[in-house]
Amino acid sequence: MTDADQPDRRRDLLALCTEAKRLARAEKEVGKVACLIDGPDLWIASVSAYNVVLDLPASRLQHGCRDFQGQVRERHLCKHIAALLLAIDEEVAVQVLERVVDPAGDWHLEAMAARGFGKS
Ligand SMILES: [Zn+2]
Repeated sequence: MTDADQPDRRRDLLALCTEAKRLARAEKEVGKVACLIDGPDLWIASVSAYNVVLDLPASRLQHGCRDFQGQVRERHLCKHIAALLLAIDEEVAVQVLERVVDPAGDWHLEAMAARGFGKS
């Protein structure tokens, strides 16, 4: 049995909160994910130089690209966040996405400064 036979829960969930074309772009960004902190319950990453903070204990995702600032009201994700969720452990990504897509979910999506940790 190959991976292709397995239903991919993570991509199914991503498809609910990302358009297909964004998801396709996210697949290409996965290689550009650089983690400053790489789990197990906090991720601070840069994806093509855009910061993404994924904080499990606080149920919070923070990110600031222009696309996300528009998408966040609809609880939709941009390619950078999708790329991070594709880069990290699948079980964690599924756990996060299940709460992001839940209309009654308590997950916080927050827009923040786009670039440059450590620079003011
Ligand atoms: Zn983004």
